[in-house]
Amino acid sequence: MSFGGGLSPNLQHLETSATMAVSQEAKRRKAAGEDVIDLGAGEPDFATPAIPSDAGIKAIHDGKTKYPPNEGVLELRAAAARHLSLLSGGRPVNADRIVVSSGSKQSLFNACFCLFGPGDVVAVPSPAWVSYPQIIHLARARPLMVPGDVEWGLKVNVKDLERKAPGARGLLLCSPSNPTGAVYTHAEIKAFAQWAVEKKAWIIADEIYRRIHYGPGPAPSFLDLPDEYLERVVLIYGASKAYAMTGWRIGFALAPAAVTKAMAALQSHTTSGASQPAQWAAAAAFGDERVERDVTRMVEEFRKRRDLVVSRIRKELPGVEFVEPMGAFYFFFRVDALGGGGVTGSDFCQRLVTQKGVALVPGAAFGDDRWVRLSYAAATQDISRALDRIVEFAKKLGD
Ligand code: PMP
Ligand code: GLU
Repeated sequence: MSFGGGLSPNLQHLETSATMAVSQEAKRRKAAGEDVIDLGAGEPDFATPAIPSDAGIKAIHDGKTKYPPNEGVLELRAAAARHLSLLSGGRPVNADRIVVSSGSKQSLFNACFCLFGPGDVVAVPSPAWVSYPQIIHLARARPLMVPGDVEWGLKVNVKDLERKAPGARGLLLCSPSNPTGAVYTHAEIKAFAQWAVEKKAWIIADEIYRRIHYGPGPAPSFLDLPDEYLERVVLIYGASKAYAMTGWRIGFALAPAAVTKAMAALQSHTTSGASQPAQWAAAAAFGDERVERDVTRMVEEFRKRRDLVVSRIRKELPGVEFVEPMGAFYFFFRVDALGGGGVTGSDFCQRLVTQKGVALVPGAAFGDDRWVRLSYAAATQDISRALDRIVEFAKKLGD
């Protein structure tokens, strides 16, 4: 697709974000009076907890409304470093290596733009979040999608990388995964880190969903590895998901010194840092222990919703293949065998939203249109009603 009109070749692969488009379409239909349940958006339905909200408001009243330091306010970088350290058993995390940005989406962009360029191939396990290939293209590098194994929760391993992306200069890995909810184990993460050291490749580890994990503790992380594995790792994290702070737009990257410096320089010419009041709100989110109780409560709620979705699909649509969700808040299921076969994820979603008023994201957005993504970051009652409609719709497909 092209935007045409003599625009720059920088945009030759650019498409509007399909996940954003689905949720905007659902909002439009709702505003027009339609009874639409939106299980498209990957956005927590919870309000931002009171402590960070109040800290943001206080920052405004205290006049913290000027340009922030470009890399982020020190208090936020320190709180973020302490937080990551606590999640990984107290390992040292250097706050100087943190660059705060306007959402982790910008952190991902900064990292890709600083590390990759024309001629570079970046491996992306597929299915993948819609923005990864786009961001890599914007850096003029080439995303190489490496399909995951259905038998293995659609995850990839180092052998897959060596086979499918032998000369890759980078790997963009998401765990817990959007769109599948799969989680890479400690051993799998270690093997990728070893691969990067051997191949002198970079790993961008998107761990934005790390706290939303249904196993014990936070999901395994690159930060659980010793320093010698981290020389070529850029870790991406943020406040949006676990703290229900999507609209505050605070994310950050933790990277080796040279990369940190480059990302900060890039950002000094683009945004001059993230909104200062939002940074103070995020500092309270990462830094105040009481907020952890809110996070635990929200994760417990996500877990109940996950169990509801999994048990109902298993019971009411037996035979439908899905990835067992171990983290994040997505349920990724296969639709191509429904109704006698041949239906695509795009068809399924289009018909479901027009006939039944339920918005889901077609797998095409993530590189495989045999599948569909359901986000259970929505009220339980809405999920239940949506499941009634999805089951009824799926059973009638092909009639
Ligand atoms: N990474 C993944 C995997 C995501 O799903 C999202 C969701 N928007 C982001 C990064 C970006 O989040 P944000 O910019 O809100 O931090
Ligand atoms: N990450 C979320 C999703 O996948 C929010 C939308 C977006 O940023 O793409 O739905």
